[in-house]
Order: sequence, then C-alpha cells, then structure tokens
Amino acid sequence: MVQNQKVKVSDLTQYGICPRLVYFHAREPEHAELIRSGNERSMIERILLKELAFNLHKIREDLKKGEDPKEDAKSIIKDIADDVECIYKKELSEVAEDVLDDVKREFITRMTEDEEWSRKLLAGNELLELEEIHGYDREHTMVSEKLSLSGSVDKLINTDNEVIPCMIKTGKCPEYGVWRSDRVQLAAYALLIEEEFKTTVQRGFVEYIRTAKFRESPIRRKYRARVLQTLKHVKRIKNGAFPEKGVNAPCDNCAFVDRCDTKKTLLSVLFRK
Ligand code: SF4
Repeated sequence: MVQNQKVKVSDLTQYGICPRLVYFHAREPEHAELIRSGNERSMIERILLKELAFNLHKIREDLKKGEDPKEDAKSIIKDIADDVECIYKKELSEVAEDVLDDVKREFITRMTEDEEWSRKLLAGNELLELEEIHGYDREHTMVSEKLSLSGSVDKLINTDNEVIPCMIKTGKCPEYGVWRSDRVQLAAYALLIEEEFKTTVQRGFVEYIRTAKFRESPIRRKYRARVLQTLKHVKRIKNGAFPEKGVNAPCDNCAFVDRCDTKKTLLSVLFRK
C-alpha cells in the first residue's frame, strides 16, 4: 500500500536537480549533513547573503539618508555578519572560528566596496517598495494536508489585495526573468498560500541577492501542473522507488556518487542488465 508521504518544497527543488538526490536524502539525511559541512565556505557565504536580503530595507534607508551613507551601510553589513552566529546556531556549530571570521571579513569588504550593488539597491523597484510599505513575514511556514506538502517561503508579503511569495536566491541570476526551477518553486508556494489564505496567487518574486537583481514572475498554469506532477514522483521515490538519473545530474560534485553506482550495479544484477 502506498503511504501518504509528506513532501517539502525543497524536495521538489532537489528532484529538479536529480531525482536520485530525493531518494538518497530521504534515506541518509546524516550523509547529506556531512556533505553540507564539507562546503563550509560557500555555506557561510550563502547564509550571509541570505541575511543581507532580510536587511535590505535597513541598508536602503541608510543609503538614502545618511551623511556618510557608505559608512552607515557598512556598519549594518558588519552587524549582519555578527548576528549570523546566533541566528544560524545549528548550521554553523561545526564551523571553525577562523574560517567563519575569514569568510565574514571577505563578505564585509566585498559588499561594502561593491558600488554597483548599492546603486541598484538605491534605485529600488516594485518589490523593494512593496516590502517597505507592507513589510513581510520572514520564513513563513505552510502545511497542506490536502497535498501532503509543506514549505517555508523566505518572505511573504501580504498587501490588501494580494499575498505574494518572495524567494531569496544566492546563486547566479539568469539574463532574463527567473530560472525554470525557481518558477516551479514559486508555484509550489503559491499552492500552499492559496490553501492557507483562501486566495489566488498571481505572481511571485525572486531576489537574486548577489547581484541585487529583483525579478517578478507570474504563477502560470504550466508550473502549477508541474508541481502536482513532481509531487507524485517525489512521493513514489520516498516510498522506495529508485528513479532514473536527472538529465543534467551534477554527478561530478555529488557526495552520493559511490552509493549511486552501487545501487545501479545491484539493480543491474537483479534485472540482469
Ligand atoms: S551521483 Fe549523480 S545520479 Fe547519483 S544522486 Fe548524485 S547527481 Fe544524482
């Protein structure tokens, strides 16, 4: 009998990278933790960038009004770097102090010297204005019993007329619009919001924080359907089905590569392939 597996929005994202990652993460969460701690510097950098995105309104205010705006923004960026140890206690607990200090120093220097980044932030756009006017709920968690899906959206903006999901991304920004995987993720949050708030979500935003690019994306039918389809696949995998590799599976950098090959060999033997 198929169990009613609970799925997180992050499982859907993982499926998009490689379906087998869902399989291994579900069975070996400790190994996944180990992988994360192997990429300490990039993990710390992602955390710092994410916190930066949660403080854009403060930096923007100071850039707008300060007598020496650069110095004011610099002190906010330093505060962000100081606060991450408390906010991300669990994630940073195994990180050596000197590595953390080093990444923080680099981050403060880079962000305070990046004039292009400050200029884009100061120029503003609809998303920054919506955040300024309505504020946002940080890491709002939603659960749908109907879909057996849960997720925590980075920023949830609730205006009088609409509820808007907003995701913070620390990777590269596409030339136009948002990445396809981000559209699917936004659609998944839209389905959760619609159930909780009894509304229809028309659009979402992605903050590509590294380059201060803020992109709007409509929640299209096509991506809603993709979420439901992926959800079914993920549930099957969590129930034990071993999936095919993803088309662009990043095997070279995958810490499950040994397990993946072994599993494949075992299946090959079983099915005499
Ligand atoms: S080794 Fe490749 S196919 Fe296997 S889980 Fe990792 S990315 Fe996917």
